[in-house]
Amino acid sequence: MARQTLIAGNWKMNGTTDSIHELVMAINAQLESDWQSEVLVCAPAVYLPLVIDLTKDSAIEVGAQNLSEQAAGAFTGEISGSMLADIGSQYVLVGHSERRSLYGESSELVAKKFQAALDNGLIPVLCVGETLEEREADATMKVVRAQIDTVLDYGIDVLGQGVIAYEPVWAIGTGKTATPEQAQQVHAEIRAHLAQLDVDVAAKIRILYGGSMNPTNAEQLLAQDDIDGGLIGGASLKAEQFIAICKAAG
Ligand code: PEP
Repeated sequence: MARQTLIAGNWKMNGTTDSIHELVMAINAQLESDWQSEVLVCAPAVYLPLVIDLTKDSAIEVGAQNLSEQAAGAFTGEISGSMLADIGSQYVLVGHSERRSLYGESSELVAKKFQAALDNGLIPVLCVGETLEEREADATMKVVRAQIDTVLDYGIDVLGQGVIAYEPVWAIGTGKTATPEQAQQVHAEIRAHLAQLDVDVAAKIRILYGGSMNPTNAEQLLAQDDIDGGLIGGASLKAEQFIAICKAAG
């Protein structure tokens, strides 16, 4: 089954009105109408309206980096899925490893956020991945499966409405990339895990790779059978690098 490649930038907590304006205009200018891939940028929440406005005539899609699991109410500082949808966001990251490790987000909370995104018509991108210690202890699949299974508790059809991003924690922002073979193996095992529950969902769901993807390694990673795109941090802040990755995706 053909899965459309998705190249997603995660800008994290970076940027100013000026720098984001410049970055989006540079990506817009180089986006080519014959590209087969979907291009997404996940901006800091306060800049979402700016990015949504700047991309309104372009194919670039816009997502948030986090959302509340709650619908509304006394949750100071939080941003709900309905607010993100209201301003025109299309996607939202959930369970990024920085949210899990720095802000203590459990897999149960991440699953609630995944459901909250769907409840509001947003497409959640579920980030999963093992630490170096877990990989060295041969626990990669155990960890990744457990992170996915909390969403599967809501149903395979629920998970099937989102996107998965496999991001080995040891490769995020470190310049160390999983080899194409290492990444492919985990992606294939994730798909096989889902296929035990629903062959169609397993065949259709997009599984992105994230972790120091750059213009040099993107082509080989994206050429793997079960790698359906990339979630890109550092390189997504530099228009020419992000565009080069989009070009590598075709
Ligand atoms: C990320 O934060 O999702 C990520 C993959 O970052 P980087 O590309 O910088 O490793």
